Amino acid sequence: MNLPYRLIAGAVLAALPVFAEVNKPQEIAPGVWFHEGDIGRKGHCNNGWIIFGAYVLVIDGNFPSGAQEIIPKIRAQTDKPIRFTFDTHHHGDHAYGNQVWADLGATLVAHEGVLSEMKKYEPGYFAGGKPGRWEDTAKSREDVAKSKLHPPTLLFPRQMSFEDGTHRVELHHFGVAHTRGDGFAWLPAERILFTGDACVNGPYNSMGDSDTAAWVETLEAARRLEPRFICPGHGLMGGPEVLDNQIAYLKALRSEVQKLFSAGKSPAEVKAALDTIKSTIQRQESLATYLGGGFESQVEKIYVEMGGKPFQSSAAPARRPRRDDEVLARK
Ligand SMILES: [Zn+2]
Repeated sequence: MNLPYRLIAGAVLAALPVFAEVNKPQEIAPGVWFHEGDIGRKGHCNNGWIIFGAYVLVIDGNFPSGAQEIIPKIRAQTDKPIRFTFDTHHHGDHAYGNQVWADLGATLVAHEGVLSEMKKYEPGYFAGGKPGRWEDTAKSREDVAKSKLHPPTLLFPRQMSFEDGTHRVELHHFGVAHTRGDGFAWLPAERILFTGDACVNGPYNSMGDSDTAAWVETLEAARRLEPRFICPGHGLMGGPEVLDNQIAYLKALRSEVQKLFSAGKSPAEVKAALDTIKSTIQRQESLATYLGGGFESQVEKIYVEMGGKPFQSSAAPARRPRRDDEVLARK
């Protein structure tokens, strides 16, 4: 990146107001756009797009209706071809719209783990076997039912980059987090980081496919980039505090569950402590925004990761606390 451009980008960023408007594109730096998707009514994820000299790189495939929502907004800014769409992970709200982009001529890009996850959860496509998540989602979403699964075809192991003299965008996989295939898009000149759902801003954490201990480490690796702007997978964009808060929320939740697990609490006892855990976390104002639907499943997920039994087997006897050396050996 040449120096003059870097200075211009920095000047724009310094003066940037943060929007709080869903469905309205925001230009974060010249040619770099953020779009907060309507998760409440449509389940859409956030998107980004970067206008290079000869093409457009889109961040996240969204649902098909989410892709249709932003294509005219990209077209209002440029008629350059949308050549690449980057799936930050395999979930439907980030990748089920892939076919829409492919129909426009885009190549779908992702970390290798995205394809592995799809092979695991989408047997209907890969194995011609029993229906997977796509078929399940198609029952309740017309846009998915009318489209088809299109897995990413351009895969990277740890990192790949796009650079043409106007922009440099690095795609990174820092390790397991929200899924086993999370990718980040990093613009080093503008210090903008698109995180996918490895970092969200609001009550949108979904932990079902995650490993929460690894997740914290992965986010800490991303934090070392020292981003100035965080474009999360859901919720408002903001400064580095968005990433700090996500890390702090995961740490706080894990710490509360660890206390109960170490004290030998049964699944039923941990479940009964949900309100107490919530009020403890709520005391940290910056973390309260993460509390919402799915809290029970988050606590259960972490408890099971630590070695506890799922909540439905609440008749199980209290287990003995794991010794500290066993806990350390798992890290
Ligand atoms: Zn999402």
